[in-house]
Amino acid sequence: MLNILVIGNGQCGNRILDSINKHAFGGGKSGKLAKFYSKQKYKSRVETIAINTAVNDLKEMRFTKAKDRIHIPHLHGVGANRNIGKQVFDEKKEMIMRQIEERGSFDIAFVLTSASGGTGSSFTPLLVKEMKERYDYPVYCIVVLPFREEGTLYLQNAAFSLKDIRASGADGIILADNQYLKNIGGSIQEAYNGINDMIAERILFLLDALDSEMMMVTDLGDFKTVMSGGAGLATIGFFRAEKELPVKTAIQNALSPSGLLFSTDVYDEASRAMVIIKGDRKYLSIDDISTEIEKLSGAVGHVFKGIVVCNGEYPQVLSVLTLESAHELEKLYNVAVQAIHHEKAKKQRVEEGAEVDKAFAQIDGLEPEY
Ligand code: GDP
Repeated sequence: MLNILVIGNGQCGNRILDSINKHAFGGGKSGKLAKFYSKQKYKSRVETIAINTAVNDLKEMRFTKAKDRIHIPHLHGVGANRNIGKQVFDEKKEMIMRQIEERGSFDIAFVLTSASGGTGSSFTPLLVKEMKERYDYPVYCIVVLPFREEGTLYLQNAAFSLKDIRASGADGIILADNQYLKNIGGSIQEAYNGINDMIAERILFLLDALDSEMMMVTDLGDFKTVMSGGAGLATIGFFRAEKELPVKTAIQNALSPSGLLFSTDVYDEASRAMVIIKGDRKYLSIDDISTEIEKLSGAVGHVFKGIVVCNGEYPQVLSVLTLESAHELEKLYNVAVQAIHHEKAKKQRVEEGAEVDKAFAQIDGLEPEY
């Protein structure tokens, strides 16, 4: 049995964590009370902790127990300012680390955050650094990139935060991109919920597979090896067949753009991979699976394959891919650099005070007349 810690930082991290808890406690089907009586579906011991400076974001959570929601008092959040966020983390570091310490020891930890807000993006690199100094288990970050039209502050936060997380000692960064996934449709809130559910479903599938006692499965050691390949960046693909479907097609779908959390051509940019195939024995043709895996390993290098037999289930496939290069990320950094210059120029204009001060100067030496 694996001991797994999942931490959600900031609003986005909290919401994804809540979605994980929703799915772990029966998909929310039994309503709000589920968390009080139902047993979680994990085979592993999974501890979840939501951390936020904004108490309202924590209150919004519906499936995460109150004891797992940690409010770090600082007014009403840090207002997308990473410098304030870092300062708050430093001031409250021992309080935060005590929460982790109290949960015991783990085999693996995941930290969920957006790259672009204030709290999660500034807490995550500092938290990971602390965890890596104190514990010897691997820590993986799942980082959500912003919609590109969300504004200059979010873009520059994303650029700096991702760089900080990579330098923090994290054992790998799994990217999910709101911009790429936004076609999920509906309102922003619906898109968020859809994206969060996608991420949650993939993480739960992965945890389940890593702790499986079936034959031909991948384990934590394989996952660590995959994640240590490439440039420290990774993404996850997934496909669940809704009807009878050849396993070949299911594998191809889990590697195709529509199955991935981040835009990449896996045959071009991936460095190592893990492919986990689950379903009824009758769908799991070993020859077909081998052909597809060989196709991928021919392009990528090493591919770990896991097979989990599940009676009566249509094929489902999860892929974990570490990336050697990430063209889409380069594009994001280009836009972020423009955003930083834009903010800088604006600040300079304000500091020079030209326009507004000129307006004020017009009443210098005058008094109101009544
Ligand atoms: P923080 O609370 O200060 O850490 O800030 P947020 O986590 O709200 O960060 C803002 C960024 O996260 C923006 O790019 C949002 O698009 C994104 N975001 C906020 N909530 C969600 C969510 O529930 N799901 C997803 N996928 N993205 C979110």
